[in-house]
Amino acid sequence: MKRQELHVAAIQNGTVIDHIPSEKLFHVVHLLQLDRMKSAVTIGYNLPSTKMGSKAIIKVADKFFTDDELNRLALVTPNASLCIIRDYEVVEKKQVCLPENIVGLVKCPNPKCITNNEPMSTRFTVTGGGTLKCRYCNHEEHLENIQLL
Ligand SMILES: [Zn+2]
Repeated sequence: MKRQELHVAAIQNGTVIDHIPSEKLFHVVHLLQLDRMKSAVTIGYNLPSTKMGSKAIIKVADKFFTDDELNRLALVTPNASLCIIRDYEVVEKKQVCLPENIVGLVKCPNPKCITNNEPMSTRFTVTGGGTLKCRYCNHEEHLENIQLL
């Protein structure tokens, strides 16, 4: 085990999300709905990181997220790394990758868009240059400027 990981207690089984920029921690909590989770969630915040200056780590005991859930994280933390832990051992490492379609997670910035005026899910297509395109009004927004629902 690397020394920096000792900042947060080890878990027996579950998922570790590392290299989260500290300022994005609460977005990650929101995207994974950790506030509604029944299993133990350990959060390390403002931990020193040689690569990032300051980072956050989240450990969720007894929880294995689907790829769909994890890929949401790419919206706010494209460089997060994930470790799947079984019996205190890392059995799998994953990187998040942006899905092609984003449904019900991001608000359309166009006030005239139907999704802002009707009770319906937003839908975006991810385009090449790091932008999201609304499927209803074609508004494009760079990932850095998106607003989560
Ligand atoms: Zn729209």
